[in-house]
Amino acid sequence: MQDCLFCKIIAGSVPSKKVYEDEHVYAFYDIAPNAPVHVLVIPKLHIASADEVDFGNSEYVARIFEAIPNIAKLAGIVNGYRIISNCGEDASQTVKHLHFHILGGKVMKEKLV
Ligand code: 5GP
Ligand code: ZN
Repeated sequence: MQDCLFCKIIAGSVPSKKVYEDEHVYAFYDIAPNAPVHVLVIPKLHIASADEVDFGNSEYVARIFEAIPNIAKLAGIVNGYRIISNCGEDASQTVKHLHFHILGGKVMKEKLV
């Protein structure tokens, strides 16, 4: 996707601070962290949001979740983390490329659910 910021980050035309990369998955530090450790994990295929996941692309989502434990370790998270994916307008998704926020490095007492 030409106009997608995260596709540009995967392609390297927009710089990012990489945590992890494999054939299906790219992980990098969020530019505006909401926790001491804030990593974004994205598929290397343009999927607009969780609402666009289907039988044809769900392998990317599986690969993401298989990689997350290692990504958390690489980012130095030792005591648990929160995974968030904002999906669509009502959830205030700002970048329309599926991403999972990995938040850690502090006790997160505040809970939405
Ligand atoms: P959303 O609001 O869509 O769930 O999350 C988008 C996230 O992307 C935000 O946390 C925001 O800080 C992050 N972000 C936006 N632009 C950039 C960028 O150019 N580089 C990085 N590393 N993160 C970005
Ligand atoms: Zn994209």
